[in-house]
Amino acid sequence: MNILLLGSGGREHAIAWKLRQSSLCTRLFIAPGNPGTALLGENLSFGVNDFDAIVDCCRQKTIDIVVVGPEDPLVNGIYDHLRSFNDFDNMIIVGPSAVAAQLEGSKAFAKAFMERQGIPTAAYREFTKENYLEGVEYLKQHELPIVLKADGLAAGKGVVIAQTHEEALDTFADMIQEARFGKASAKVVVEQFLSGVELSVFALTNGKEFVILPEAKDYKRIGEGDTGLNTGGMGAISPVPFAQGEFMEKVMNRVVKPTIEGLNRENLTYFGFVFFGLINVDGDPYVIEYNCRMGDPETEVVMPRLSNDLVKLFQSMFNGTLSGTTIAFDPRAAATVVLVSGGYPGDFEKGKPIIGLDSSFPADTLAFHAGIREQNGQLLTNGGRVAAITSYGSHIGDAVSRSLQAIEKIQFEKMNFRSDIGYEFRS
Ligand code: AMP
Repeated sequence: MNILLLGSGGREHAIAWKLRQSSLCTRLFIAPGNPGTALLGENLSFGVNDFDAIVDCCRQKTIDIVVVGPEDPLVNGIYDHLRSFNDFDNMIIVGPSAVAAQLEGSKAFAKAFMERQGIPTAAYREFTKENYLEGVEYLKQHELPIVLKADGLAAGKGVVIAQTHEEALDTFADMIQEARFGKASAKVVVEQFLSGVELSVFALTNGKEFVILPEAKDYKRIGEGDTGLNTGGMGAISPVPFAQGEFMEKVMNRVVKPTIEGLNRENLTYFGFVFFGLINVDGDPYVIEYNCRMGDPETEVVMPRLSNDLVKLFQSMFNGTLSGTTIAFDPRAAATVVLVSGGYPGDFEKGKPIIGLDSSFPADTLAFHAGIREQNGQLLTNGGRVAAITSYGSHIGDAVSRSLQAIEKIQFEKMNFRSDIGYEFRS
């Protein structure tokens, strides 16, 4: 089968790595891809939101499967666009319709969906310019801390956890009156703060059936010990030690099943990955957020731990045979450590030569490229998150140590990373 994968991050390199292992994968194209994906398939030079180029590519390369990595094209309707052409009726599209992608594209949509389906989540209210003053009064009497979320996509930056009422009111004004996140913050969701350990659970679904992939925990803060600013993700681990037994039964019965049943009941066309961002509050799971695609860097540990053939899973998703499928997990732990540009998540420089990323690493280490470009055979930094170094290990501490060892070989000016990924579970 010919496959087109959209995206250019570490997530897409990990998905490409997994797809390449399938005997069913004939040709693999990645748009726009990165130097890592170029080693596994053919990079094409159009962007993920260039729908015309995507359609042309599907025709010219007789694409059988389109895998959508990031959320933008999904929220922009790539699924619906491709489905509007009869000649693509048999093409497998991994990614939901625009309406269903609102589970990620609009926090208010996701909250209302969870409320209708009785799925546990933090109590909330939504506000716009119209009921702004009511919002101010609501915030003044809200217990601290207060969580404020821009409704729309804000590249992971639209959530503020205010520690004082003053900060909450300033943020609220900033978001609604000053359009801090543009249109995305014209509506603001204000919600109760939940305290607990977070984890990410992933399902592959066709809106009726689903399978559960290996779970993961990511580390969002820039600084060791979970301090400093939020980033796109500084590392991830899998498995998550408390994600088992009674807790996972609750996740299945209270969150995953009601979500898929809700998609079906509400006729939301959904083919692809569902990312459940969960928090464990005293043994009970609550949904913090949905994403309509895989996470980054979680994918860099989930794909290595998934033993099934990913192309076959996509076929089962499309053919309606997912419920007869057993997911096999690699029993080893996996950890990924993300190498970032100095200054990230604030301002950072690009174009720094990267040394050692093409080294031969031990067989239990995988070097996934993210913000990297190649110029005259030299790898150069080209983003905040530059690479994700994943290793397998007998336990999480072992996996992290192997990644840190591999990182000793890699260098670029002002390279930064967290050496404490998985710190809670290392021993
Ligand atoms: P989101 O973009 O909704 O995933 O939020 C980003 C991060 O903010 C989450 O990963 C949590 O760490 C934190 N967060 C969001 N909502 C809440 C909440 N209700 N209570 C506590 N932390 C939250």
